[in-house]
Amino acid sequence: MADIIKPIVVNISLIVSLAFLANMVYPFRDNDELTLKKQLVFGLLSSIAAVLCMVYPIETFRTTVFDLRTVPLIVVTLYAGIVPGAICAFVISMGRLWIGGEYAWVGVLITVIALLIAFGYSRSFSEANKKWKPALIAGFLFFLFYLMIINTYLDFLPTYFYLAYFIPFYLTYFLMVILIDRLIRINIELDETIYLGKLSVLGQMAASIAHEIRNPLTTIRGMLQFLSSDTTDKQLKRYAPLLIDELDRSNKIITDYLTLVKPGSIELGKLNLREVVEDTINLLLPLGAYHNVEIKTEITVSYMVKAHEQHFKQCLINIIKNGIEAIDGKGIIRIKVKSKNSDEVSLSIEDNGKGMTREELEKIGLPFYTTKTKGTGLGSMITYRLIRNMGGVLQYKSVKDKGTTVTITLPISE
Ligand code: ADP
Ligand code: MG
Repeated sequence: MADIIKPIVVNISLIVSLAFLANMVYPFRDNDELTLKKQLVFGLLSSIAAVLCMVYPIETFRTTVFDLRTVPLIVVTLYAGIVPGAICAFVISMGRLWIGGEYAWVGVLITVIALLIAFGYSRSFSEANKKWKPALIAGFLFFLFYLMIINTYLDFLPTYFYLAYFIPFYLTYFLMVILIDRLIRINIELDETIYLGKLSVLGQMAASIAHEIRNPLTTIRGMLQFLSSDTTDKQLKRYAPLLIDELDRSNKIITDYLTLVKPGSIELGKLNLREVVEDTINLLLPLGAYHNVEIKTEITVSYMVKAHEQHFKQCLINIIKNGIEAIDGKGIIRIKVKSKNSDEVSLSIEDNGKGMTREELEKIGLPFYTTKTKGTGLGSMITYRLIRNMGGVLQYKSVKDKGTTVTITLPISE
């Protein structure tokens, strides 16, 4: 018994520690377009995990070798795609052929089947919200094939072996799926903390500058009023009200901004998500039409969310406007409910505009970050702030030249 537990523990530790190493090199994310370099690194690290597993086999009947090498193979293919999967499968096959024996080809066959099944499910896997479902199906399918193959070609295996091998195999496999999901979530939270850290310094600076500007503006306004009331200069009399209006407008922008940056609690109400979205879209339809952009909602069910109506609408306006501005020529913005559970609901706003690179995506939400000549670079920062104040989460996913999807997650109100 002990001589089977030891290699199992070694196999599991190897796989888990290489997954942690991979996460340190390139933190796992679910919205990542993996660059070739990342794919190669993930392929390499999973190959190392698999090869080391083969060095510590769980069972060796006659010339067979049983270990958990297909776990890193399936997991890397599901999460990172065919390139790292193929690298890992290739390395495993070479390793198995190198060990040799009359059953080496069975090992290669199983490796290829694992790769194909995992690749077949990698798409639905990356799109799924609950990863364990496709993971379960892919794992089960692989199990069936595996069983069939060893039953046909390796019929000398004792019955206890099936339990001793497959139970640790599936436990490790699910452990990996859960572990990687956790790591992805931790990375998102970490990103957000870093972002908020940057924001608080920059946001405070911006707030103090805004405050400093307001004082001279008030003085200018007062002087202007005084001069225009007491002058015979026709030009001055004519244009002073215009100037005062503009000053008032500037003042209002600053005041609005300051109230946003100011921390403090807001009253949250119970809102019908669908109605709020439809109201906001109606406001923006003319702007959309002017830019040749269609705005469509695909919300069919009503959800009650906990939010501040004015703030929520402001967020939607900021996001949809950015979408409209990102579209060159004809385009469409789709708004739909992406997922829902008993606590929260996620709304996605998807445009087919110019999209953003990873670097651009990292900067979005920082004060004054803008790529537009007339942009303020404040919209997304305010949106982040407002959604957060409502207890929600804002996320951006984007593919350069394809489009952007913004997801707002808000708590449900019973
Ligand atoms: P502004 O709209 O004034 O530029 P924002 O904070 O709203 O400021 O946006 C910051 C930047 O993020 C924009 O200038 C743009 O480059 C980028 N951005 C925001 N939303 C999108 C989108 N839907 N598609 C592409 N780029 C976007
Ligand atoms: Mg904007």
